Amino acid sequence: MSELDDLLRNNRDWADKVCQDDPSFFERLSKQQSPRYLWIGCSDSRVPANQILGLDPGEVFVHRNVANVVVHSDLNCLSAVQFSVDVLKVEHILIVGHYGCGGVHASMTGMRLGLVDNWLRHVGDVCGKHADRLAKVENDALRHARLCELNVIEQVANLCHTTVMQDAWARGQKVAVHGWCYSLSDGRVRELGMDVAGPEQLQPAYERALASMPVAGKRDE
Ligand SMILES: [Zn+2]
Repeated sequence: MSELDDLLRNNRDWADKVCQDDPSFFERLSKQQSPRYLWIGCSDSRVPANQILGLDPGEVFVHRNVANVVVHSDLNCLSAVQFSVDVLKVEHILIVGHYGCGGVHASMTGMRLGLVDNWLRHVGDVCGKHADRLAKVENDALRHARLCELNVIEQVANLCHTTVMQDAWARGQKVAVHGWCYSLSDGRVRELGMDVAGPEQLQPAYERALASMPVAGKRDE
């Protein structure tokens, strides 16, 4: 009896149910994918792209890493972006952080976790860049929430600066980048006002997103 038997049984049950509802589902998907969305999110097990968006297999291209970071030298993330923009022609890229992110918290407190600390240095840089703003937040819980949001805003900016996005916009391709933050406590996404559909929109969106960020209390829903 394998510890994984439950998972394999779940898989068979799921595949059977999908086939019952739509007999040609897998045959259709095996031939081609045409997602309209790219999701760049945290690896956290509580933040699954498809379930949160209510989308089926084939509808969202996904890249996840610890603390949903977009780094200009990360070939893994850049390759997912390039393939989904240039080949799949996704129309919307969602960078989705989440409140209560352990990676963001570790970078804020300096907690040592191991090798991952080096990756989280990127979030530490965001923390340093916005140190003045974060110092005004009234308590650690809210500071953590604001840093989760600031991290998303900065990652949207990083993505917009990549050659992939700059080239796509230069040739007139319709593709927009959006910054969201997901709440583990109610399952809902907060829009951060960081929506960019062209290079000229980046700076105004960045300034708007920062200006609308609350210093005290939770974000309006
Ligand atoms: Zn996380």
